[in-house]
Amino acid sequence: MAVKVDHDLCTGCGLCTQICPEVFEMGDDGYSHVIRGADESLPCVDEAIEQCPVGAISR
Ligand code: SF4
Repeated sequence: MAVKVDHDLCTGCGLCTQICPEVFEMGDDGYSHVIRGADESLPCVDEAIEQCPVGAISR
């Protein structure tokens, strides 16, 4: 299952990039993006999903 960030919800707070910098990065558009080729099975992805204040991350 691919990890996705819903840019209609993401506020660009940056929290997921702090929790899981191996997988998420902030783009020039101000939204979080999944890093190409990142290991999406890392446990920190699940933490980012839980902690995102607007529920924008899913898998
Ligand atoms: S934690 Fe959620 S709202 Fe904040 S940057 Fe990540 S996806 Fe966007």
